[in-house]
Formats: sequence, structure tokens, C-alpha cells
Amino acid sequence: MPKFTSPTDIARETFKQLATRRIVPTPENYRRVYQEIAEIPPEDGSESEKELIGALQAAGRSNPQINNTTRNIIQALEQRDWKALTLHIEALGAQKRSEQIGWADLLRDLLKQWDLKQKGLTTSRKKEALERVLINFGKNSDELLNKLRSLVKAWSEGTSGPPDIEMEGGNNLPEAPSTPEGRVGTPMNPLLGGEEVPGLLLTLLTQALLNGVMPRIAHFPELAARATDLAHQARSANDLDTLNQFSKDIRQFWIELELRADADQEVLDGLMRLLRLLIENVTELLMDDQWLRGQLSIVQDIISDPLTPIVLAEAEQRIKEVIFKQGTLKHSLNQAKASLKDLVTVFISRIGEMSENTGEYHGKIEKYVEKISQTEDLPTINAILRDVITDTKSLHLDMLRSHDELMNARRQAEAAEQKMHELEVELGQVSELIFQDHLTGALNRRGMEEAFTREFARAKRGQTPVSVALLDVDHFKKLNDTLGHDVGDQALVHLTKVIKEILRPVDVVARYGGEEFVIILPDTNATDGVSIITRLQRDLTKRFFLHENEKVLITFSAGVAQREAMETAEAMIARADAALYRAKQAGRNRVYLAQAANPS
Ligand code: GH3
Ligand code: MG
Ligand code: MG
Repeated sequence: MPKFTSPTDIARETFKQLATRRIVPTPENYRRVYQEIAEIPPEDGSESEKELIGALQAAGRSNPQINNTTRNIIQALEQRDWKALTLHIEALGAQKRSEQIGWADLLRDLLKQWDLKQKGLTTSRKKEALERVLINFGKNSDELLNKLRSLVKAWSEGTSGPPDIEMEGGNNLPEAPSTPEGRVGTPMNPLLGGEEVPGLLLTLLTQALLNGVMPRIAHFPELAARATDLAHQARSANDLDTLNQFSKDIRQFWIELELRADADQEVLDGLMRLLRLLIENVTELLMDDQWLRGQLSIVQDIISDPLTPIVLAEAEQRIKEVIFKQGTLKHSLNQAKASLKDLVTVFISRIGEMSENTGEYHGKIEKYVEKISQTEDLPTINAILRDVITDTKSLHLDMLRSHDELMNARRQAEAAEQKMHELEVELGQVSELIFQDHLTGALNRRGMEEAFTREFARAKRGQTPVSVALLDVDHFKKLNDTLGHDVGDQALVHLTKVIKEILRPVDVVARYGGEEFVIILPDTNATDGVSIITRLQRDLTKRFFLHENEKVLITFSAGVAQREAMETAEAMIARADAALYRAKQAGRNRVYLAQAANPS
């Protein structure tokens, strides 16, 4: 209760106070002191009160949860209801406390889930999700609290974050955060309206530079350094100027990269040309060295096709095997040659010794003849004869010894020659492998070409006919589909075995393609060729292919063509193929004769 209640008392006291406090008695000052004494609140509110109300309204707007409470506080203030004001302020305090408790719980849960190992969730993924939430919702503590709660919940369920975290909050993003290298972050780009997508694109570009481009240009250190610089530039391009500069730099970089790639390709092409030239020339120089030619023809085959790491690795492996086998054989062959040379040396030196011995003997004989002619004395002659006999004996012994040694040397030379022959045969067989199909042991395409050349030459020399049959297994795809590819392979091995057993040793079987075979029939005309292949067909139905003790019937269709004057192997095969096609059309499991090349 104020001390003065009647307006007259208050007015009197006001004047007294103005005088005592030496305040200038203006109407404004009078009113202020009057209201103070009467304990009346100012009508329009003071400046600081205005500011307080403004602050309360702002707080309410930014935090909807306390909005009601702040509105109540403002109302109580305006109505000067101090009791209500105290109550509402207390309520606000309680609300803040409970919020703090919410944060404390959340932080405890977050730390717990951070340390736990969830299946399929790495620490870096968690870090990424947390960063995203902080960036997107860091300005709004309530929303942040909610989003963090959802995140912690998602972690506890083993996912990296609720899907809405990826989508929301794009419009109130803070400044671009610096992202650690090689990880997805969302640098902000105020220039582009604070949208998340362009930021993400810049991050992706950064990653493309660091993880995609860098490893491929590692052998150009200067370009690699440029790529790293550009990645940093992309990450910090958050205004128009830096972005423009970055776009200029990266365009220049692409141009250089393209030039470098062109140069690389040219170098590669050049190397391939050199390699081809080298191999062609080396092959010509080594025409008589069959095994080396075989190896080089593999390399030639490989470099005529587009290079792939798989093709290269396979070829390298095959060449290594052949080189290893041939290396050991060559070593043994060289040893055999060396021992033969030693024997020849011994042989020659032995002949030398022999002629020395006989020369000495001739000399002695001459001396004996002279002595004999000069003496009449029988005992002296006897003595001379004894000497002659002794010398002759020693000569004979020498001769015998030489003979034995020579015989021995000859035997050794023969053994060495035999060994050399064996090794050469073996070496030839290893070289043959190059002309063989791995699976069936039939000749491969290269082997087939050699065989054609050989057989055509033989036919020309002997004026004999030569025919070719082209075989294609019937419904082989079905066999593969029902019994499996491996069984299909075994069926091809079986077919090759039967062909080799049934046909003559001079006939040549080559694997022409997957389940197609070429058979060269020397000294055979077309009609005989058809009979031979038809017999083969019959025999094949008797020699079953067994799979898990079940008989599997394999049949084939074939076309047979006889070589016409000067006809090439390809042309013959093409005619046989046309006949084969007709055989298939007619119902399979039959052999057709090819039409003449130039029907008259
Ligand atoms: P048809 O010749 O009677 O018309 O029928 P097909 O089923 O034999 O016909 P096609 O020539 O279309 O199929 C040949 C099949 O042979 C396709 C391929 O899967 C299979 N093949 C090719 N090479 C091999 C091989 O080396 N091993 C195995 N198991 N199958 C192969
Ligand atoms: Mg086929
Ligand atoms: Mg077939």
C-alpha cells in the first residue's frame, strides 16, 4: 500500500520531493515523481519494458514450445499483475529445466549408440549422418533435439539415419562446412540459393577427381597434383567468383587430360606396331626352329586381337609353360651334344696316336730290315726277329686297345645320338601342343591350317584327290542344357576319341569351332569321303558316350567336299558347310555331298 492515498497529500509530497531532490519542476518530472509516490505504473511502459516484451515475443516465435508461456508473461506485465507474472516466469524456468533433461538423456543415448557396433553401420557413416543433422537443424534446438532423437533411434535399429534427414532442412543451411577428404558431405552454396543438390554435386565432383581421376594419372605427378588442387577448389567453391575460377581451371584440366590420353594411345599403338614388326622378322629368321615359331605365333594371335588383361594373362601363362618345358629339353639336348663332341675329340686323338705308333713301327721295321741285310749271323738275326716280334706284339696291343676304345666311343656316340633323337622328338611333341586344342587333343585352327598346307602339297606331288568333311554335333545346346556344360565338354572329348579310332592314321581331325570339327581325308574322293563319314556316324551310335552309367546318344550332321583344282581350304570348307546346312535342314544325323564349286 502506498504511504499517501489522497491526491492532495500526494501532490504535496511531490512538490516536496522535487525541491529536496533538486529536480527541475517540469510537467514530465512532476508526473514521474507523482506516479512514483502514488505507486502508479507508467501508462505506455518504459523503453526497457518495450525491449523486454520484444525479446519475449522473439523467444516465443523461435521456440513454439514456450510461446504460450511468453505470451502469458507479456500479458501479466502489461496488466501489472505481478503475481501472475511471477507464476509464469517460474513456469518458463521449469520448462527450460525439462528441456535440459531431454538433452541430457539424448546425449547419453547418442554416446551409447555411437560406441555400440551396429551391423552394417560404420563410424564414418554415423559421423556423416550426425554431421548432416547438425548442418540442417543446428539453428533450431527443438527440431535438432527431435532429429537427433530419430537418428539415435535409427542407429539403435541398425540404419544410418531416418530418410527425412536426407531431404529436409535444405533452406536454412548454415555456411559450407569443410568436409574431410573422400567422404560425402553437403557443402553449402549460398550462390545457388542454399540448395543442397548443387553442394552435393560439388562434393561428387571432388570425389570423382580424387577417387576416379587421380589413380589413373598417378604416373603424371604434375597432373595428379593439379587434380588434388582442383578437388580442394571444388570443396571450397562457395561464391560466384571462386566457382567461375574453378570452372575455368577444370576446363583447362580436362583439355590437358585429353591431350595426355591421346599421347598415351599413340605410344601404345606405336609399341604394338614395333612388337608386330619384331615378331614377324624374328619368325622369318627362325623358320627352321619349329618350337620357337609355335610360341611366336601365339603372341602374334594375341596382338592381332584387342588386348584385355584376361587374354594377356592367359597367353602369358601358356607361353611360360611352353618355355619352361622347352627350356629343360634344350638343356638336356645341349648336354647330349657336348658329350658327342668329346667322343669325336677322343676318336681323332686316338687316330693320331695310332698313326704315330705305326710310323714308329715302320721306322723300326726299316732298321730291322737294314740290320738283317747287314748280318749273316744267325743268333743276331734271331735277336732281331725277337725284337721285331716284341715290337709287333706291342703294336698289336696298341691296335687292340685303340679298337676297344673306338668301339666304346662308337657305342657312346650312338647312345648320345639316340638320346638326341628322343629329345628332339619330345621337343617336337611339345611344339605340337601349340597346334592342339586343349580340350579334345584334336588340332586347333592353326594346326589345321598347317595340315591343309601339308596335305595339299602331298596331293599335288602324288596327283591324288583330297576331301574335307565338316561335322556339327546335333542338338548340342540341348545336351549342355540338360546335362551341364562339363558333360558337354566330355561328349566332345568322346567324339574326338571315336573319330581318331575309326579313321585312318593319315586322316586329320581338327576342332573347327565349339562343336564343329573338320576332317581332312587325304587320297580320298568325295564319294568315298561320304562313305567314310557315314561309317563313322554308324560307329558312333555303337560307341556310347556314358554319363553316370547312362548311355547318351550323340549324333552329328556333316557335309563332304572334294578339293577342286587350286581350291583354297576356306572355299572347300564353305562348300562342305553348305552341304552340312542342307543335312541339318533335312532332319540332322546325315551326311551330304557338297555341290561342285563351278557347276557346269
Ligand atoms: P544344331 O547344330 O543341331 O542345329 O543344334 P545345336 O544345339 O548344336 O546348335 P548351335 O550350334 O546353335 O549350338 C551349339 C552349342 O554348343 C552352343 C554352345 O553353348 C555349345 N558349345 C560350343 N562350344 C562348346 C564347348 O566347348 N563345350 C560345351 N560344353 N558346349 C559348347
Ligand atoms: Mg554349331
Ligand atoms: Mg550343333
